[in-house]
Amino acid sequence: MISIENIRDNFPILSQKVYGKSLVYLDNAATSQKPLSVINMQDRFLKECNANVHRAVHTLSGVATDLYEQGREAVRSFIDAESREEIIFTSGTTASINLMAHSFVEAFCKRGDVIIISQEEHHSNIVPWQIAAQRCGVELRIAPINYDGSLNLEELYILLKEERVKLLSVAHISNVLGVINPIDIIVEMAHNEGVKVLIDGAQGVVHSPISVKNSDVDFYAFSGHKIYAPTGIGVLYGKRELLEKMPPFMGGGDMVDTVTFERTTYAPLPLKFEAGTQNIVAAACMKPALDFAQQVFDNEDFKQREESIIEYITSELNQIEGLQILGTATPKIPLFSFVIDGIHHEDVAQILDKMGVAVRSGLVCAEPLINSYGYTGIIRASFAPYNTLEEAEIFIKSLHRAISMLK
Ligand code: PMP
Repeated sequence: MISIENIRDNFPILSQKVYGKSLVYLDNAATSQKPLSVINMQDRFLKECNANVHRAVHTLSGVATDLYEQGREAVRSFIDAESREEIIFTSGTTASINLMAHSFVEAFCKRGDVIIISQEEHHSNIVPWQIAAQRCGVELRIAPINYDGSLNLEELYILLKEERVKLLSVAHISNVLGVINPIDIIVEMAHNEGVKVLIDGAQGVVHSPISVKNSDVDFYAFSGHKIYAPTGIGVLYGKRELLEKMPPFMGGGDMVDTVTFERTTYAPLPLKFEAGTQNIVAAACMKPALDFAQQVFDNEDFKQREESIIEYITSELNQIEGLQILGTATPKIPLFSFVIDGIHHEDVAQILDKMGVAVRSGLVCAEPLINSYGYTGIIRASFAPYNTLEEAEIFIKSLHRAISMLK
């Protein structure tokens, strides 16, 4: 069991200095740092097990295939899916949603059918649907949010009642607002109208356990790199009966059963959606990464620590004159996006960096959302379980200094 007190010992990068200052890494919503168990797996795989998977009869390929499939089983167990066939490896959330925008639309939508997304979506849950709309004439509707960053469920209800709605695709947690959407309620509302649901879990999967079985969600997408795995690996979970009906997104090796020049039959799930050589080493790293995440969830101090950080930062930010937080509804994760009157977000981020504090600034791939609040950019501090209350204090102190330099 990981002790939350000693959790940082698992992350070599956290002891780095930036400009001679201890690194305070608060850009975890962009990507998480990697624990030693993941780094060691990547190292071991490349040194001892590297081969392509599912193809050769030689021993090394067998070892690589086992590690790849253990990664899949780790995902299945982590999100509590019924079977491994329902776990498709992709390169990340973006690739998973693009797969959906192609294959779900091909299988289940006709010209004039409707896909609902929401006002709080990341670009990767907007643009693929716009491309699908141009390609095959599906129509997009945007479910609004309330000013506090919660989804407006009354408006969503009205949109779901429209005819010809085929899919609702919304974030579990927005990368700007940090507010946790009530997935169970959303899924029930959509299913009552016969609408399928895709959840963009890029941020959601990181902060509390999800059971796709219990929530009855139809599809769930997430990226490995935000939950301790390397970049280049992601997941699309889908209910088997739906994935069975969907055509492949990409064609190539490994996703076929038989190929002739006239006709090809496809491999069964999940390989039907895994054309070509995947990021095998990153897939193998999903097991240590998700084992680590599970140990964090299982630790009874973890939620309390998150809550203390949320309480402290919210109260400190609220005392700063001219500062506005985006996403004040609860429950939320320790992710804080804010703007400060008369101060440019990038200037703040650059000064904080010189003080060793890494935050994100700008439109953070959610331009429509940020514009809808009337801003052209934000400052975002996003915490991971390895961030401490002391780091939160350094962040607040550094922010005060940055503001005094800029005012
Ligand atoms: N959706 C959300 C809510 C995200 O936060 C992100 C990453 N910032 C993505 C989608 C895209 O993830 P990726 O770049 O790993 O594909």
